[in-house]
Amino acid sequence: MEIQKNYDVIVAGAGIAGIGAAVKAGRMGASVLLVEHYGFVGGMSTAGMVGPFMKHSIHGQPLVRGVFEDLEDGMRRQNGMIDNGFYASAFRSSAYELLRQAGVTVLLHGEISRVHREGNRLTALDMLTDGREVTVGGQVFIDTTGDAQLLYLGEFPWVKGDEKTGLLQALTLFFRMGGIDIERATEYAKANKHDFFDWMTYDFDFSKIVSVAGYWSNVRRAIEEKRLPPEIEYIFFTTLPGSGEGSFNTSNVLGLDGSSSPDLTAAELTGRNQVDQLVTLIQQELPGFENSYLVETAVQVGVRETRRAVGDYAVTGADVRNMHKFADPVARSSYGIDIHGQKDEDSVLEHVEEGEYYEVPLRSLLVQEADNLLVAGRCISSTREGHSAIRIMPTSSATGEACGALATLAVRAGTPVREVPYASLAAEIGYNLTQTEAAS
Ligand SMILES: Cc1cc2nc3c(=O)[nH]c(=O)nc-3n(C[C@H](O)[C@H](O)[C@H](O)COP(=O)(O)OP(=O)(O)OC[C@H]3O[C@@H](n4cnc5c(N)ncnc54)[C@H](O)[C@@H]3O)c2cc1C
Repeated sequence: MEIQKNYDVIVAGAGIAGIGAAVKAGRMGASVLLVEHYGFVGGMSTAGMVGPFMKHSIHGQPLVRGVFEDLEDGMRRQNGMIDNGFYASAFRSSAYELLRQAGVTVLLHGEISRVHREGNRLTALDMLTDGREVTVGGQVFIDTTGDAQLLYLGEFPWVKGDEKTGLLQALTLFFRMGGIDIERATEYAKANKHDFFDWMTYDFDFSKIVSVAGYWSNVRRAIEEKRLPPEIEYIFFTTLPGSGEGSFNTSNVLGLDGSSSPDLTAAELTGRNQVDQLVTLIQQELPGFENSYLVETAVQVGVRETRRAVGDYAVTGADVRNMHKFADPVARSSYGIDIHGQKDEDSVLEHVEEGEYYEVPLRSLLVQEADNLLVAGRCISSTREGHSAIRIMPTSSATGEACGALATLAVRAGTPVREVPYASLAAEIGYNLTQTEAAS
Protein backbone atom coordinates (compact mmCIF):
# COMPACT_ATOMS: atom_id res chain seq x y z
CA MET A 1 0.00 0.00 0.00
CA GLU A 2 1.46 3.34 -1.01
CA ILE A 3 -0.19 6.28 0.75
CA GLN A 4 -0.38 9.23 -1.62
CA LYS A 5 -1.39 11.81 0.97
CA ASN A 6 -2.17 12.00 4.70
CA TYR A 7 -4.91 13.99 6.41
CA ASP A 8 -5.85 14.52 10.05
CA VAL A 9 -9.48 13.66 9.36
CA ILE A 10 -11.06 11.82 6.43
CA VAL A 11 -14.82 12.19 6.02
CA ALA A 12 -16.46 9.56 3.82
CA GLY A 13 -19.62 10.82 2.06
CA ALA A 14 -20.73 14.43 1.55
CA GLY A 15 -24.36 14.33 2.61
CA ILE A 16 -25.54 16.79 5.23
CA ALA A 17 -23.76 14.79 7.99
CA GLY A 18 -20.47 14.71 6.07
CA ILE A 19 -20.69 18.43 5.35
CA GLY A 20 -21.30 19.14 9.07
CA ALA A 21 -18.34 16.95 10.05
CA ALA A 22 -15.90 18.32 7.46
CA VAL A 23 -16.77 21.99 8.03
CA LYS A 24 -16.46 21.67 11.81
CA ALA A 25 -13.11 19.82 11.66
CA GLY A 26 -11.79 22.33 9.11
CA ARG A 27 -12.90 25.28 11.25
CA MET A 28 -11.02 23.77 14.19
CA GLY A 29 -7.81 23.68 12.15
CA ALA A 30 -7.65 20.01 11.11
CA SER A 31 -6.52 19.03 7.61
CA VAL A 32 -9.65 17.41 6.19
CA LEU A 33 -10.46 15.34 3.13
CA LEU A 34 -14.14 14.95 2.22
CA VAL A 35 -14.69 12.16 -0.34
CA GLU A 36 -17.92 11.95 -2.35
CA HIS A 37 -19.09 9.49 -4.97
CA TYR A 38 -21.29 12.00 -6.86
CA GLY A 39 -20.08 15.07 -8.76
CA PHE A 40 -21.71 17.32 -6.15
CA VAL A 41 -22.30 17.45 -2.41
CA GLY A 42 -25.54 16.98 -0.46
CA GLY A 43 -26.40 13.27 -0.69
CA MET A 44 -30.11 12.76 -0.02
CA SER A 45 -30.59 16.55 0.40
CA THR A 46 -29.60 17.16 -3.24
CA ALA A 47 -29.29 13.88 -5.19
CA GLY A 48 -32.47 12.68 -3.49
CA MET A 49 -34.13 16.16 -3.65
CA VAL A 50 -35.43 15.42 -0.14
CA GLY A 51 -37.09 18.21 1.81
CA PRO A 52 -38.17 20.14 3.76
CA PHE A 53 -35.97 20.07 6.87
CA MET A 54 -38.07 18.19 9.41
CA LYS A 55 -39.08 19.78 12.68
CA HIS A 56 -36.04 20.84 14.70
CA SER A 57 -37.36 23.47 17.06
CA ILE A 58 -39.37 23.95 20.23
CA HIS A 59 -41.64 26.98 20.58
CA GLY A 60 -40.07 28.34 17.38
CA GLN A 61 -36.52 28.19 18.82
CA PRO A 62 -33.97 26.03 16.97
CA LEU A 63 -32.62 22.85 18.56
CA VAL A 64 -29.84 22.54 15.98
CA ARG A 65 -27.40 25.37 15.47
CA GLY A 66 -23.76 25.61 14.28
CA VAL A 67 -22.98 24.45 10.74
CA PHE A 68 -26.65 23.67 10.10
CA GLU A 69 -27.72 27.26 10.78
CA ASP A 70 -24.86 28.56 8.61
CA LEU A 71 -26.03 26.28 5.80
CA GLU A 72 -29.57 27.62 6.17
CA ASP A 73 -28.35 31.25 6.25
CA GLY A 74 -26.42 30.72 3.00
CA MET A 75 -29.53 29.35 1.29
CA ARG A 76 -31.70 32.20 2.57
CA ARG A 77 -29.23 34.79 1.25
CA GLN A 78 -29.75 33.28 -2.23
CA ASN A 79 -33.56 33.27 -1.80
CA GLY A 80 -33.20 29.51 -2.16
CA MET A 81 -34.96 28.73 1.11
CA ILE A 82 -38.15 29.87 2.80
CA ASP A 83 -39.37 28.54 6.10
CA ASN A 84 -37.85 25.02 6.16
CA GLY A 85 -38.12 24.35 2.39
CA PHE A 86 -35.13 24.71 0.05
CA TYR A 87 -33.81 24.04 -3.43
CA ALA A 88 -31.07 21.43 -3.96
CA SER A 89 -29.10 24.01 -5.99
CA ALA A 90 -29.13 26.48 -3.07
CA PHE A 91 -28.08 23.70 -0.68
CA ARG A 92 -25.10 22.83 -2.86
CA SER A 93 -23.79 26.35 -3.27
CA SER A 94 -24.26 27.19 0.42
CA ALA A 95 -22.40 24.00 1.39
CA TYR A 96 -19.52 24.66 -1.06
CA GLU A 97 -19.05 28.11 0.44
CA LEU A 98 -18.86 26.71 3.99
CA LEU A 99 -16.44 23.96 2.90
CA ARG A 100 -14.23 26.49 1.08
CA GLN A 101 -14.15 28.85 4.06
CA ALA A 102 -13.24 25.96 6.38
CA GLY A 103 -10.33 24.93 4.11
CA VAL A 104 -11.69 21.42 3.47
CA THR A 105 -10.22 19.44 0.55
CA VAL A 106 -13.18 18.04 -1.36
CA LEU A 107 -12.80 15.11 -3.73
CA LEU A 108 -15.88 14.57 -5.91
CA HIS A 109 -16.31 11.60 -8.28
CA GLY A 110 -14.38 9.47 -5.75
CA GLU A 111 -15.79 6.07 -4.76
CA ILE A 112 -14.38 4.58 -1.56
CA SER A 113 -13.70 0.97 -2.48
CA ARG A 114 -11.52 -0.43 0.32
CA VAL A 115 -10.28 0.39 3.81
CA HIS A 116 -7.02 -0.60 5.49
CA ARG A 117 -7.48 -1.81 9.07
CA GLU A 118 -4.85 -2.65 11.67
CA GLY A 119 -6.50 -4.06 14.79
CA ASN A 120 -8.94 -1.46 16.10
CA ARG A 121 -7.66 1.30 13.84
CA LEU A 122 -8.23 2.30 10.25
CA THR A 123 -5.02 3.54 8.67
CA ALA A 124 -6.05 4.42 5.14
CA LEU A 125 -8.70 4.04 2.50
CA ASP A 126 -8.69 3.47 -1.23
CA MET A 127 -10.75 5.62 -3.54
CA LEU A 128 -11.54 4.76 -7.10
CA THR A 129 -10.67 7.88 -9.11
CA ASP A 130 -9.96 7.98 -12.84
CA GLY A 131 -10.54 4.22 -12.93
CA ARG A 132 -7.71 3.38 -10.50
CA GLU A 133 -7.34 3.08 -6.74
CA VAL A 134 -5.66 5.94 -4.88
CA THR A 135 -4.76 5.43 -1.22
CA VAL A 136 -5.07 8.21 1.36
CA GLY A 137 -4.07 7.97 5.02
CA GLY A 138 -5.85 9.54 8.00
CA GLN A 139 -5.68 9.75 11.77
CA VAL A 140 -9.44 9.70 12.34
CA PHE A 141 -12.15 8.55 9.89
CA ILE A 142 -15.79 9.60 9.90
CA ASP A 143 -18.35 7.39 8.16
CA THR A 144 -21.10 9.60 6.76
CA THR A 145 -21.92 7.39 3.79
CA GLY A 146 -25.48 6.78 5.01
CA ASP A 147 -24.83 3.07 4.40
CA ALA A 148 -22.04 2.63 7.00
CA GLN A 149 -19.73 1.75 4.10
CA LEU A 150 -16.50 2.13 6.10
CA LEU A 151 -17.81 -0.24 8.77
CA TYR A 152 -18.94 -2.68 6.10
CA LEU A 153 -15.62 -2.59 4.22
CA GLY A 154 -13.58 -2.70 7.45
CA GLU A 155 -15.66 -5.50 9.00
CA PHE A 156 -16.69 -3.44 12.01
CA PRO A 157 -20.09 -4.40 13.49
CA TRP A 158 -23.29 -3.18 11.83
CA VAL A 159 -26.94 -4.23 11.56
CA LYS A 160 -29.60 -3.75 8.89
CA GLY A 161 -33.37 -3.45 8.98
CA ASP A 162 -36.03 -4.49 11.46
CA GLU A 163 -34.70 -6.52 14.39
CA LYS A 164 -37.25 -9.33 13.84
CA THR A 165 -38.20 -9.24 10.17
CA GLY A 166 -35.16 -7.57 8.56
CA LEU A 167 -37.54 -5.26 6.66
CA LEU A 168 -36.19 -1.92 5.42
CA GLN A 169 -38.28 1.22 4.96
CA ALA A 170 -39.86 1.99 1.58
CA LEU A 171 -37.90 3.96 -1.03
CA THR A 172 -39.24 7.14 -2.65
CA LEU A 173 -38.24 9.00 -5.80
CA PHE A 174 -38.92 12.70 -5.20
CA PHE A 175 -40.20 14.91 -8.02
CA ARG A 176 -40.98 18.59 -8.39
CA MET A 177 -43.84 20.23 -10.31
CA GLY A 178 -44.38 23.85 -11.33
CA GLY A 179 -47.36 25.86 -12.60
CA ILE A 180 -49.54 24.86 -9.64
CA ASP A 181 -52.36 27.17 -8.52
CA ILE A 182 -51.54 26.68 -4.83
CA GLU A 183 -54.54 28.68 -3.56
CA ARG A 184 -56.97 26.63 -5.62
CA ALA A 185 -55.28 23.38 -4.56
CA THR A 186 -55.45 24.30 -0.86
CA GLU A 187 -59.06 25.53 -1.12
CA TYR A 188 -59.96 22.13 -2.53
CA ALA A 189 -58.21 20.37 0.37
CA LYS A 190 -60.02 22.62 2.87
CA ALA A 191 -63.39 21.78 1.34
CA ASN A 192 -62.64 18.03 1.31
CA LYS A 193 -60.93 17.42 4.67
CA HIS A 194 -62.23 13.85 4.81
CA ASP A 195 -59.93 13.03 1.89
CA PHE A 196 -56.75 14.33 3.58
CA PHE A 197 -54.54 13.40 6.56
CA ASP A 198 -55.83 14.57 9.94
CA TRP A 199 -52.44 16.13 10.83
CA MET A 200 -53.02 18.77 8.13
CA THR A 201 -53.71 22.33 9.28
CA TYR A 202 -55.87 24.54 7.12
CA ASP A 203 -54.84 28.07 8.23
CA PHE A 204 -52.53 28.28 5.21
CA ASP A 205 -49.84 30.97 5.36
CA PHE A 206 -48.49 31.33 1.82
CA SER A 207 -45.37 33.15 3.03
CA LYS A 208 -44.33 29.80 4.54
CA ILE A 209 -44.23 26.35 3.04
CA VAL A 210 -47.58 24.61 2.82
CA SER A 211 -48.03 20.83 3.14
CA VAL A 212 -50.93 18.99 1.49
CA ALA A 213 -51.30 15.22 1.89
CA GLY A 214 -54.11 12.83 1.01
CA TYR A 215 -56.23 12.74 -2.17
CA TRP A 216 -57.08 9.21 -1.07
CA SER A 217 -60.19 8.90 -3.26
CA ASN A 218 -58.28 9.88 -6.41
CA VAL A 219 -55.52 7.39 -5.56
CA ARG A 220 -57.98 4.58 -4.76
CA ARG A 221 -59.89 5.08 -8.00
CA ALA A 222 -56.71 5.23 -10.09
CA ILE A 223 -55.47 1.98 -8.52
CA GLU A 224 -58.82 0.27 -9.24
CA GLU A 225 -58.60 1.45 -12.85
CA LYS A 226 -54.94 0.31 -13.05
CA ARG A 227 -53.70 3.85 -13.73
CA LEU A 228 -51.53 3.69 -10.59
CA PRO A 229 -49.74 0.71 -9.00
CA PRO A 230 -51.21 -0.58 -5.70
CA GLU A 231 -48.15 0.57 -3.67
CA ILE A 232 -49.15 4.24 -3.94
CA GLU A 233 -50.96 5.25 -0.74
CA TYR A 234 -51.51 9.02 -1.06
CA ILE A 235 -50.31 12.18 -2.79
CA PHE A 236 -48.16 14.45 -0.60
CA PHE A 237 -46.53 17.70 -1.62
CA THR A 238 -44.93 20.66 0.11
CA THR A 239 -44.53 24.02 -1.59
CA LEU A 240 -41.10 25.39 -2.54
CA PRO A 241 -39.63 28.91 -2.42
CA GLY A 242 -40.77 29.69 -5.99
CA SER A 243 -44.48 30.45 -6.37
CA GLY A 244 -46.56 27.65 -7.83
CA GLU A 245 -43.98 24.93 -7.16
CA GLY A 246 -44.36 21.76 -5.16
CA SER A 247 -42.04 18.94 -4.07
CA PHE A 248 -43.71 15.51 -4.09
CA ASN A 249 -42.85 12.80 -1.57
CA THR A 250 -45.32 10.30 -3.01
CA SER A 251 -43.80 7.44 -4.98
CA ASN A 252 -43.48 4.27 -2.90
CA VAL A 253 -41.06 1.54 -3.95
CA LEU A 254 -41.25 -1.66 -1.89
CA GLY A 255 -39.25 -4.84 -1.35
CA LEU A 256 -35.82 -3.50 -2.33
CA ASP A 257 -32.56 -2.82 -0.45
CA GLY A 258 -31.01 0.64 -0.99
CA SER A 259 -27.50 -0.66 -0.27
CA SER A 260 -27.55 -3.12 -3.21
CA SER A 261 -26.79 -1.82 -6.74
CA PRO A 262 -29.13 -4.26 -8.54
CA ASP A 263 -31.94 -3.40 -6.09
CA LEU A 264 -31.27 0.32 -6.46
CA THR A 265 -31.41 -0.05 -10.25
CA ALA A 266 -34.80 -1.74 -9.99
CA ALA A 267 -35.94 0.99 -7.58
CA GLU A 268 -34.87 3.78 -9.96
CA LEU A 269 -36.84 2.21 -12.82
CA THR A 270 -39.94 1.51 -10.72
CA GLY A 271 -39.78 4.98 -9.15
CA ARG A 272 -39.57 6.72 -12.53
CA ASN A 273 -42.49 4.71 -13.85
CA GLN A 274 -44.55 5.63 -10.77
CA VAL A 275 -43.71 9.33 -11.21
CA ASP A 276 -44.90 9.28 -14.85
CA GLN A 277 -48.22 7.76 -13.77
CA LEU A 278 -48.59 10.13 -10.82
CA VAL A 279 -47.90 13.25 -12.91
CA THR A 280 -50.57 12.22 -15.43
CA LEU A 281 -53.13 11.70 -12.66
CA ILE A 282 -52.22 14.96 -10.92
CA GLN A 283 -52.49 17.02 -14.13
CA GLN A 284 -55.75 15.41 -15.23
CA GLU A 285 -57.65 15.21 -11.94
CA LEU A 286 -56.44 17.47 -9.14
CA PRO A 287 -57.98 20.97 -8.86
CA GLY A 288 -55.25 23.62 -9.10
CA PHE A 289 -52.98 21.42 -11.22
CA GLU A 290 -54.61 22.09 -14.61
CA ASN A 291 -51.54 23.96 -15.96
CA SER A 292 -48.92 22.17 -13.92
CA TYR A 293 -45.84 20.51 -15.36
CA LEU A 294 -43.04 18.22 -14.20
CA VAL A 295 -39.91 20.29 -13.45
CA GLU A 296 -37.56 17.45 -12.50
CA THR A 297 -37.15 14.12 -10.79
CA ALA A 298 -34.38 13.48 -8.28
CA VAL A 299 -31.01 12.19 -9.48
CA GLN A 300 -31.51 9.06 -7.41
CA VAL A 301 -34.28 7.31 -5.54
CA GLY A 302 -34.48 8.32 -1.86
CA VAL A 303 -33.10 5.70 0.54
CA ARG A 304 -34.42 5.95 4.08
CA GLU A 305 -32.77 3.00 5.73
CA THR A 306 -29.87 0.59 5.14
CA ARG A 307 -27.04 -0.37 7.55
CA ARG A 308 -26.70 1.06 11.04
CA ALA A 309 -23.52 1.03 13.10
CA VAL A 310 -23.30 -1.06 16.25
CA GLY A 311 -21.97 1.55 18.64
CA ASP A 312 -21.43 1.97 22.38
CA TYR A 313 -25.13 2.90 22.67
CA ALA A 314 -28.10 2.41 20.32
CA VAL A 315 -30.77 5.16 20.33
CA THR A 316 -34.11 3.39 20.83
CA GLY A 317 -37.75 4.10 20.14
CA ALA A 318 -38.24 4.36 23.92
CA ASP A 319 -35.57 7.12 24.07
CA VAL A 320 -37.59 9.06 21.50
CA ARG A 321 -40.99 8.41 23.11
CA ASN A 322 -39.74 9.17 26.65
CA MET A 323 -37.82 12.30 25.63
CA HIS A 324 -34.63 10.80 27.06
CA LYS A 325 -31.89 13.26 28.10
CA PHE A 326 -28.35 11.86 28.29
CA ALA A 327 -25.21 12.80 30.22
CA ASP A 328 -23.30 13.06 26.91
CA PRO A 329 -25.67 14.77 24.43
CA VAL A 330 -24.49 15.73 20.94
CA ALA A 331 -27.84 16.50 19.27
CA ARG A 332 -31.38 17.44 20.24
CA SER A 333 -34.53 16.69 18.26
CA SER A 334 -38.27 17.09 18.40
CA TYR A 335 -39.03 14.73 15.50
CA GLY A 336 -40.86 11.51 16.33
CA ILE A 337 -40.82 7.94 15.07
CA ASP A 338 -41.54 7.78 11.33
CA ILE A 339 -41.40 4.39 9.62
CA HIS A 340 -42.55 4.19 5.98
CA GLY A 341 -43.85 0.65 5.94
CA GLN A 342 -42.80 -2.11 3.58
CA LYS A 343 -45.07 -4.60 1.85
CA ASP A 344 -47.33 -6.09 4.57
CA GLU A 345 -46.00 -3.66 7.18
CA ASP A 346 -47.95 -0.74 8.64
CA SER A 347 -46.38 2.70 8.57
CA VAL A 348 -45.81 4.48 11.90
CA LEU A 349 -45.86 8.26 12.39
CA GLU A 350 -45.69 9.60 15.95
CA HIS A 351 -45.59 13.31 16.74
CA VAL A 352 -43.62 14.82 19.62
CA GLU A 353 -45.62 17.25 21.75
CA GLU A 354 -44.77 20.92 21.28
CA GLY A 355 -42.03 21.98 23.72
CA GLU A 356 -40.64 18.46 24.16
CA TYR A 357 -37.37 17.11 22.82
CA TYR A 358 -35.00 14.16 23.24
CA GLU A 359 -31.24 13.88 22.91
CA VAL A 360 -28.77 11.77 20.94
CA PRO A 361 -25.75 10.68 23.01
CA LEU A 362 -22.10 10.75 21.96
CA ARG A 363 -21.88 7.00 22.56
CA SER A 364 -24.13 6.34 19.55
CA LEU A 365 -21.38 7.82 17.31
CA LEU A 366 -18.63 5.57 18.74
CA VAL A 367 -18.29 2.34 16.78
CA GLN A 368 -17.67 -0.84 18.77
CA GLU A 369 -14.15 -2.26 18.29
CA ALA A 370 -12.96 0.99 16.67
CA ASP A 371 -10.46 3.49 18.14
CA ASN A 372 -10.38 6.04 15.33
CA LEU A 373 -13.64 5.55 13.42
CA LEU A 374 -16.79 7.59 14.07
CA VAL A 375 -20.21 7.47 12.48
CA ALA A 376 -22.70 10.28 11.83
CA GLY A 377 -25.95 10.92 10.00
CA ARG A 378 -28.48 8.26 9.20
CA CYS A 379 -26.17 5.31 9.96
CA ILE A 380 -25.45 6.08 13.64
CA SER A 381 -26.03 3.37 16.23
CA SER A 382 -29.76 2.98 16.84
CA THR A 383 -32.59 0.48 16.81
CA ARG A 384 -34.87 0.55 13.78
CA GLU A 385 -37.43 2.68 15.63
CA GLY A 386 -34.80 5.05 16.99
CA HIS A 387 -33.28 5.33 13.53
CA SER A 388 -36.60 6.34 11.99
CA ALA A 389 -36.55 9.50 14.16
CA ILE A 390 -32.85 10.43 14.20
CA ARG A 391 -32.39 10.08 10.41
CA ILE A 392 -33.77 13.54 9.59
CA MET A 393 -31.48 16.17 8.08
CA PRO A 394 -31.10 18.59 11.04
CA THR A 395 -30.17 15.76 13.45
CA SER A 396 -27.82 14.26 10.83
CA SER A 397 -26.07 17.62 10.54
CA ALA A 398 -25.71 17.87 14.34
CA THR A 399 -24.22 14.37 14.71
CA GLY A 400 -21.86 15.16 11.81
CA GLU A 401 -20.70 18.35 13.46
CA ALA A 402 -20.11 16.53 16.75
CA CYS A 403 -17.97 13.91 14.95
CA GLY A 404 -15.93 16.63 13.23
CA ALA A 405 -15.21 18.24 16.59
CA LEU A 406 -14.45 14.95 18.36
CA ALA A 407 -12.14 13.77 15.57
CA THR A 408 -10.16 17.01 15.70
CA LEU A 409 -9.84 16.87 19.50
CA ALA A 410 -8.60 13.26 19.25
CA VAL A 411 -6.04 14.25 16.60
CA ARG A 412 -4.82 17.15 18.74
CA ALA A 413 -4.49 14.96 21.84
CA GLY A 414 -3.12 11.97 19.94
CA THR A 415 -5.60 9.66 21.71
CA PRO A 416 -8.31 7.18 20.66
CA VAL A 417 -11.65 8.95 20.12
CA ARG A 418 -13.13 7.36 23.28
CA GLU A 419 -10.52 9.03 25.48
CA VAL A 420 -11.49 12.59 24.55
CA PRO A 421 -13.25 14.02 27.64
CA TYR A 422 -16.92 14.76 26.94
CA ALA A 423 -16.51 18.23 28.50
CA SER A 424 -13.98 19.20 25.77
CA LEU A 425 -16.39 18.10 23.04
CA ALA A 426 -19.34 19.82 24.75
CA ALA A 427 -17.44 23.11 24.80
CA GLU A 428 -16.78 22.85 21.05
CA ILE A 429 -20.37 22.11 20.06
CA GLY A 430 -22.11 24.45 22.50
CA TYR A 431 -23.43 21.80 24.90
CA ASN A 432 -21.73 23.33 27.91
CA LEU A 433 -24.84 25.51 28.13
CA THR A 434 -27.80 24.47 30.21
CA GLN A 435 -30.54 22.77 28.24
CA THR A 436 -32.79 25.82 28.33
CA GLU A 437 -30.02 28.17 27.21
CA ALA A 438 -29.04 25.83 24.38
CA ALA A 439 -32.60 25.70 23.12
CA SER A 440 -33.12 29.45 23.26
C1 LIG B 1 -37.66 9.68 0.69
C2 LIG B 1 -37.06 10.38 1.87
C3 LIG B 1 -37.75 11.40 2.49
C4 LIG B 1 -37.19 12.08 3.56
N1 LIG B 1 -37.83 13.17 4.08
C5 LIG B 1 -37.17 13.97 4.94
C6 LIG B 1 -37.71 15.24 5.27
O1 LIG B 1 -38.77 15.62 4.78
N2 LIG B 1 -37.00 16.02 6.15
C7 LIG B 1 -35.82 15.61 6.72
O2 LIG B 1 -35.24 16.39 7.50
N3 LIG B 1 -35.29 14.40 6.41
C8 LIG B 1 -35.92 13.59 5.51
N4 LIG B 1 -35.37 12.39 5.13
C9 LIG B 1 -34.15 11.90 5.81
C10 LIG B 1 -32.88 12.57 5.34
O3 LIG B 1 -32.98 13.08 4.03
C11 LIG B 1 -31.65 11.63 5.37
O4 LIG B 1 -31.74 10.68 6.37
C12 LIG B 1 -30.40 12.49 5.56
O5 LIG B 1 -30.32 13.43 4.51
C13 LIG B 1 -29.18 11.59 5.63
O6 LIG B 1 -28.01 12.37 5.54
P1 LIG B 1 -26.60 11.65 5.58
O7 LIG B 1 -25.58 12.72 5.37
O8 LIG B 1 -26.50 10.78 6.76
O9 LIG B 1 -26.59 10.62 4.33
P2 LIG B 1 -26.76 10.87 2.77
O10 LIG B 1 -27.48 12.11 2.48
O11 LIG B 1 -27.30 9.58 2.24
O12 LIG B 1 -25.25 11.08 2.28
C14 LIG B 1 -24.33 10.03 2.13
C15 LIG B 1 -23.31 10.44 1.05
O13 LIG B 1 -22.28 9.47 1.00
C16 LIG B 1 -21.94 9.21 -0.34
N5 LIG B 1 -21.35 7.87 -0.40
C17 LIG B 1 -21.93 6.69 -0.06
N6 LIG B 1 -21.09 5.67 -0.25
C18 LIG B 1 -19.94 6.22 -0.73
C19 LIG B 1 -18.69 5.67 -1.13
N7 LIG B 1 -18.44 4.37 -1.08
N8 LIG B 1 -17.75 6.52 -1.60
C20 LIG B 1 -17.98 7.86 -1.68
N9 LIG B 1 -19.15 8.43 -1.30
C21 LIG B 1 -20.10 7.61 -0.83
C22 LIG B 1 -23.28 9.32 -1.07
O14 LIG B 1 -23.10 9.56 -2.45
C23 LIG B 1 -23.94 10.49 -0.34
O15 LIG B 1 -23.64 11.73 -0.94
C24 LIG B 1 -35.92 11.68 4.06
C25 LIG B 1 -35.21 10.65 3.44
C26 LIG B 1 -35.76 10.01 2.35
C27 LIG B 1 -34.97 8.96 1.66
